[in-house]
Amino acid sequence: MEKVLVVGAGFMGSGIAQVSAQAGYQVHLMDIETAITDKALRDIRWSVEKLAAKDLLREPSEKVLARISPKKDLSSASEVDWVIEAAVEEEELKRGIFQELDRISRPETPLATNTSSIPVTRLAENTRRPERVLGLHFFGPVPLMGLVEVIKGEKTSLEIFERGVAFVQSLGKTPVRVQHDIPGFVMNRIFSAALREAVDLVDQGIVSPEDVDVGMRLGYGWNAGPFEIADNAGLDTCFRIGQTMKALGVEHLVPSSNLIERMVVEGRLGRKSGKGFYRYSSEGKRLPWEDK
Ligand code: NAD
Repeated sequence: MEKVLVVGAGFMGSGIAQVSAQAGYQVHLMDIETAITDKALRDIRWSVEKLAAKDLLREPSEKVLARISPKKDLSSASEVDWVIEAAVEEEELKRGIFQELDRISRPETPLATNTSSIPVTRLAENTRRPERVLGLHFFGPVPLMGLVEVIKGEKTSLEIFERGVAFVQSLGKTPVRVQHDIPGFVMNRIFSAALREAVDLVDQGIVSPEDVDVGMRLGYGWNAGPFEIADNAGLDTCFRIGQTMKALGVEHLVPSSNLIERMVVEGRLGRKSGKGFYRYSSEGKRLPWEDK
């Protein structure tokens, strides 16, 4: 059985661990605190059991859950066939993780990053195997979203790029090949263009977030509007992506208004903190805003 190490057990890492276990991989799920991996395992159990109840799982949920082991450090990188890094969107932090992964893992192991905006090439620079570093950009919530962008860094070999495509397919997801390592890759750039305009219009008082979301669902057939997507992704993550995009010279994809930054400062991070553009119960159900 092939083994996967997922680094970071937040919103994305826990989802990537879950779909990998569902596909039959033995998964090591690492984060810096046991409380975080404990929560991730609880969230994964909830999600897997929900899928089982809908008859969407190929095997008993306990079998899937038994494939995931929590880890407190990166030492198990030495025994895995794939590493997927899904830690916080901070370049210095990710650079350090890649350096350590390169030191610990076998030289042939591919190292993937789930970054939304940091160039894969820059993370690869911190390793002695840049040809084995690539982007695997999942979409959240990972168990429900079918797409993964596979990103070729400047030095990623074609062999590893295609192995990334095959790995994504083995998870039951659909890969989109991004042949050049451009800031924000492809889907985030397109989404950011929409979010940028939506945030600016809301901050100017022209329209409410709810009406934008209804409009994009009914007018353009989106499954969720930009503010629903941003709340799910986490406004702190959206803010960090914006900062990276600005630093990389694509400020035309970042809102002119600082609304998202103001919300982050107030602790309104979206679904994960119970408040963002919408309000959520502790079980993550959307609530009306009447006691705003
Ligand atoms: P998150 O904040 O939910 O989780 C990040 C996790 O990283 C946290 O649990 C944190 O404890 C952990 N972490 C911090 N330092 C670490 C370290 N040194 N080693 C291991 N883990 C560490 O964030 P997220 O939304 O899961 O995003 C993770 C990555 O995925 C980011 O790069 C983000 O840009 C990318 N991404 C996010 C989304 C989204 O919708 N949120 C979509 C695609 C990609």
